[in-house]
Amino acid sequence: MHSAFLYHAIQHGMDMGIVNPTMLEIYDEIPKELLEKVEDVLLNRNDNATEVLLDYAESVKGDGKKKERDLSWREQDVKRRITYSLVKGITEFIEEDTEECRKLYPEPIQVIEGPLMDGMNVVGDLFGSGKMFLPQVVKSARVMKQAVAYLNPFIEAAKNGAVQPNGKVLMATVKGDVHDIGKNIVGVVLGCNNYDIVDMGVMVPTQDIIKKAIEENVDVIGLSGLITPSLDEMVSVAEEMEKAGLTIPLLIGGATTSRVHTAVKIEQSYTKGQTIHVLDASRSVTVVEKLLGNTSEEFVADIKKEYEKVRLNHSNKKAQKRLLPYDVALENKFKIDWKAEDIYTPNFVGNKTYDNFPISELIPFIDWTPFFQTWQLAGRFPRILTDEVVGEQATSLYADAQEMLAKIEKENWLTAKAVIGIWPANSNGKDDVYTYTDESRTEVADTLFSLRQQTQKAKQLPNFSLADYIAPVETGLQDYLGGFVVTAGLGIEPHVKKYQEENDDYNAILLKALADRLAEAFAELMHKKVREELWGYAPNESLENEELIDEKYQGIRPAPGYPACPDHTEKITLFKKLNATQEIGVELTESMAMYPAASVSGFYYAHPQAKYFGLGKIDIDQVKSIAERKGMDQVVMKKWLNPVVN
Ligand code: SAH
Repeated sequence: MHSAFLYHAIQHGMDMGIVNPTMLEIYDEIPKELLEKVEDVLLNRNDNATEVLLDYAESVKGDGKKKERDLSWREQDVKRRITYSLVKGITEFIEEDTEECRKLYPEPIQVIEGPLMDGMNVVGDLFGSGKMFLPQVVKSARVMKQAVAYLNPFIEAAKNGAVQPNGKVLMATVKGDVHDIGKNIVGVVLGCNNYDIVDMGVMVPTQDIIKKAIEENVDVIGLSGLITPSLDEMVSVAEEMEKAGLTIPLLIGGATTSRVHTAVKIEQSYTKGQTIHVLDASRSVTVVEKLLGNTSEEFVADIKKEYEKVRLNHSNKKAQKRLLPYDVALENKFKIDWKAEDIYTPNFVGNKTYDNFPISELIPFIDWTPFFQTWQLAGRFPRILTDEVVGEQATSLYADAQEMLAKIEKENWLTAKAVIGIWPANSNGKDDVYTYTDESRTEVADTLFSLRQQTQKAKQLPNFSLADYIAPVETGLQDYLGGFVVTAGLGIEPHVKKYQEENDDYNAILLKALADRLAEAFAELMHKKVREELWGYAPNESLENEELIDEKYQGIRPAPGYPACPDHTEKITLFKKLNATQEIGVELTESMAMYPAASVSGFYYAHPQAKYFGLGKIDIDQVKSIAERKGMDQVVMKKWLNPVVN
């Protein structure tokens, strides 16, 4: 059973220049040191086996052992070679093979219509049947794009038409949102399947989307967004599409989108065309194919029926959900037995900025599991590297990531900055937390407003609010609240742009995904620094990265927009308190997305009993209360809280 793994691992080693391919079949001839390390990974013999193997690979790379690769596929005819390059994602020979092919056909365009598309069909079939994974497909797309780029001048010179695409798809991340990894992946995958992609980028206003859709006569609009305010933005795009009289299908995708939201909130705003939620990139091709194919009517009818059912289920559930009046929920708050010894006087109070934090120090804190999720490879790191199904892909992707991280670090591609604060604070015993200008606690600097669970709880269980974790004024205890904004995305743009200009979506996406990982790692590292040194309530913590990922430490760092505190507008206060935009160059968009996208923000709660929870649904009485307390218009407040209002 392990021989397949071994083969992959060794072959991977071979890519890194460790072994000669002629050794492959001969187990005994694998250098003993390498064999041991490979087996450590395969048999999960120790926790850091992967790092050790990669380090080893690094150490023998180019040290005189000659790299030899199996190039016997180069002896096949040129069409086979092109298919091979596409399936394997090899760019090295694609221009020379494309040129050779071009001479075989009367028209340059026939090279695309013939061998290149044939090759991509193989890729599409393998991906569709689960035999190929996303990173590989994105690499295949890179080969395709480079071949097409090579042919384009010849096609233009010949001036006799263009390849007939299967359809034209407009892709955009909605206004106020800056996240585009998912959108770009879908664009690449659709592009692979011969759809013409009109990519409008991020933060695209509704009117621009509609104007472009009409101008370009697109067949489908695909909207993407990550943060919850984008959900409402998508509804407004749907409404405007309706007004503009469009009839083309509308695809909805992104982390916070769902079938339920699409069915309940978006579909009915756009009656002239079909709206459909697309779970992931691999589904997007099938969906677009069906929407534009000749059985589209049946397909649309099925979706309509399905969404009708979703709405019915949803309204039944809603009817069952009983919410407590806000004042009753308040009375059932989480009651901490406040003791002086549970409150830690910080070593440092105030704000602190970290400019140009070394990337090398962030790397050990990376949580790799979400990185693989971004690439649609399921499994927990490091086990995923030896997973029976995705292990080979994961290992190869991981090696590419390591290589890029080394470049990021050495060539200073990204600048990491952080600003953190620890402030004297007390709660009002309800849902407001006062932060004071100084230790005298006589003057309130800013008030933070929390939301409280309103669902009917089983006996004994409280209705949580983050404010419950801060000592009320009446206890007379001197408590504190912390906050942070970190970024690892400063300076990313020129590098992404360079990759895009080279038709290299694979590396463009890889870089963005790594910047995201570095930002999360930075948040992890700063939190540790705060616990151990700055606040200092856990000076001798000494947890491994794995344990940090599992949140084995005391205290939490809830992020505005996440389940315990879905009110994104608290970021305004957080950013103001930290002066984050001036200090470290992170901006807030009108939807409260952070730019650069590779940024993380949140609050620090130190109490030993502070735990994450999900707010669940709240009622309009709480919306009214929080709007009043914040001095915000109730309608505006409700709009921000839409995803959680019953
Ligand atoms: N290791 C992960 C960390 C990010 S997810 C990674 O690298 O991606 C975990 C973070 O999400 C937490 O640190 C916290 O900031 C936020 N979070 C998780 N659950 C939350 C909740 N219920 N309410 C508020 N924030 C939450």
